[in-house]
Amino acid sequence: MNNKKVSINNKQNNRGFWIFFIFVAIFFVLYLFLPNVSSGKSVPISILIQDIKSNKIKSMTISQTSATAVLKNGSTITSNLGNPTNPTSIFTNNGIKLGNYSNISIAPKSMITSSDIFTLIFIIVIILSTWYMIKQFKSAGTGGIFSMGESKAKLFMGTKQSIKFDGIAGADEAKEEVEDVVDFLKNPKKYLNMGARIPKGVLLVGAPGTGKTLLARAIAGESGVPFFSTSGSEFEEMLVGAGAARVRDLFSKARKSSPAIIFIDEIDAVAKKRGLSFTATHTEQTLNQILVEMDGFDNSINVIVIAATNRPDVLDPAILRPGRFDRTIILDLPDVEERQKILELHSKNKPIASDVSFEKVAKRTIGFSGADLENVLNEASIIAAKKSQTTILSEDIEEAATKVVMGPEKKRVRSDSEKEIVSYHESGHALVSKFLPESDPVHRISIIPRGISGGATMYLPEQDNHLYTKTKFLTMITHMFGGRAAEKIQFNDITNGASDDIKKASEMAREMITKFGMSDDLGPIEYAYSDNEGYGIKEKQYSDSTASVIDMEVSKIINTCYQKALKILTEHKAILDALAKKLMLVEVMEGEEFNKIVGTMLNGEKT
Ligand code: ADP
Ligand code: ZN
Repeated sequence: MNNKKVSINNKQNNRGFWIFFIFVAIFFVLYLFLPNVSSGKSVPISILIQDIKSNKIKSMTISQTSATAVLKNGSTITSNLGNPTNPTSIFTNNGIKLGNYSNISIAPKSMITSSDIFTLIFIIVIILSTWYMIKQFKSAGTGGIFSMGESKAKLFMGTKQSIKFDGIAGADEAKEEVEDVVDFLKNPKKYLNMGARIPKGVLLVGAPGTGKTLLARAIAGESGVPFFSTSGSEFEEMLVGAGAARVRDLFSKARKSSPAIIFIDEIDAVAKKRGLSFTATHTEQTLNQILVEMDGFDNSINVIVIAATNRPDVLDPAILRPGRFDRTIILDLPDVEERQKILELHSKNKPIASDVSFEKVAKRTIGFSGADLENVLNEASIIAAKKSQTTILSEDIEEAATKVVMGPEKKRVRSDSEKEIVSYHESGHALVSKFLPESDPVHRISIIPRGISGGATMYLPEQDNHLYTKTKFLTMITHMFGGRAAEKIQFNDITNGASDDIKKASEMAREMITKFGMSDDLGPIEYAYSDNEGYGIKEKQYSDSTASVIDMEVSKIINTCYQKALKILTEHKAILDALAKKLMLVEVMEGEEFNKIVGTMLNGEKT
């Protein structure tokens, strides 16, 4: 959306240049042609001289370059004289004594000849264009060069947003989290009187199409403040200094119309961790300017900056410091219920056939973002219109969904059997952790695919740990195998779904032995490779026989943990079944819900 602005800008600058050029050209043409146009029929000088001699002339004017005569019959004739040093000599040489003709007047000798005028215009053009270029170069330091000057910044305009929170389906948590931002924009005094620090920056994190822009616009809409929007990618193509100037302009415009919201989409484009990008120096300037502007806000300035990214991992931690983007709001891909709500919302003004069940559509569209779902309905309308139907049928939506899945991104219409496997796998991870010492509590279990992973179990560490016990490591490895163990128990078969778990578990087990000295047999010795810097040769600093002991120790840890996971899940198979069934339905289960199910069923087991 924002990229378009760039081309508009180029056009605008070119237009200025052309208007200037055409103006000069018109002036030039008018000057050369107008005298001739008004001076009647052009005739050779010999004819004019003849007419004078035969007394046909009523009056005549001789100028530097031409002679114009009004004849007694009323017509006007003119002759070009060239550009002689003395125009009257042409007549005297031809035997006409001008002194004898009272009706012939000689125009005072003009100081400027037409060639002088040409030279003059030429000089003016050179001066003007040099002045224009100097102006542009100067503004490069604060603005840009040629196409990237001030005119670009002039495009920043606060727009009024009509969208409100009810235009966002689901995402209740996110909406709740920004409610105070809205309230703050509306009633800043209420907060300032309490001595509260104003939120300055909010970071929205989420996959493309999860409604980050939508949420930012709704915040502006709800609070009725102007919305200034730009995108990090817009700054990437700019010259050094131009980005920073643009940021300055953006913030100053927003400040002037405070209270206001500034929205910066794709903030990662300018806020990459140092060392990750080659273009660091100039995007860094842009980022620094954003941070300087934000640091400069005091409590009287009611401007909130909302930034969006789908790559929080690459962000420079400097932007997350207090007083900057210190509040992060995550927009997840919608779960089955939210998908249904989004579909219902976007179908409001569409003629949907009565047999369409959005509940069914929602179940089939796992991994779809809000934007995808909107797209599905739009495609469905197009399909229905092409077939000249009066309503959108179930099959149209089905076809549209398939079409959207086929698109470039990784979305899945997942079969029920795959859904079941993933549900068991994730439930396995979570359940195992319940029966192990030093486990982190389960935060959320999800079977919504994300990138390459089919689902996820998230744990919430109770504290920021830097020291891990051996017990803790064994616990982590055991719950990594919870997924594989659940598959084995339920289906008596295994899938490739555990490959990432296996990789991580193996790495961890090996590090325990070779780095952390956690093997009783091998002792607290580092088993590493020498790093002969400069030669690129790496040699292991232990014997081959030690190497095989290490391998055995690793496999001992792995196997013990896997067996433990199998044992736990076999013992509590009923709970595993219940969790998996529930997860298939809801797709996302919060930690509390999980604890409740497990807690109730454990009590049942005991009695
Ligand atoms: P992002 O900025 O995260 O890439 P957008 O906010 O641009 O996503 O979302 C694109 C479109 O998808 C929105 O204009 C809206 O129509 C639709 N959409 C996304 N999420 C939702 C939602 N939760 N409710 C309703 N519509 C949504
Ligand atoms: Zn797993």
